[in-house]
Amino acid sequence: MARFPKLAVFDLDYTLWPFWVDTHVDPPFHRSSDGTVLDSRGRTIRLYPDVPEILERLQGLGVPVAAASRTGEIKGANQLLELFGLLRYFVHLEIYPGSKVTHFQRLQQKTGVPFSQMIFFDDEKRNIVDVGKLGTE
Ligand SMILES: [Mg+2]
Repeated sequence: MARFPKLAVFDLDYTLWPFWVDTHVDPPFHRSSDGTVLDSRGRTIRLYPDVPEILERLQGLGVPVAAASRTGEIKGANQLLELFGLLRYFVHLEIYPGSKVTHFQRLQQKTGVPFSQMIFFDDEKRNIVDVGKLGTE
């Protein structure tokens, strides 16, 4: 891999935020007048605190960022990315159930970036193993 990857791909649940969007919280989400993101039961929803800075730094380095999530709560996941102000960092969103090999094949087709020039962040071993077989770090 060159000095920087040509695409950085992030999982969502337990990678950008500390919960499963399909089970631990209750969509739809909204933002209160003080800017806090809340779920439908009024519980505060937070990102991992370092996430905005990491995405900002990648953008500054010219590294495009994409999301690859296998959640079934597609609408809620998209809504959280929007409410947290993160949509502007992502060039592609691949959010749907199934093996992440599919997510990465679509990212490869859309960007033209070889798997070996992508970097992937995920908390689940099964995803890391599947995507690692494609040659992604
Ligand atoms: Mg995860």
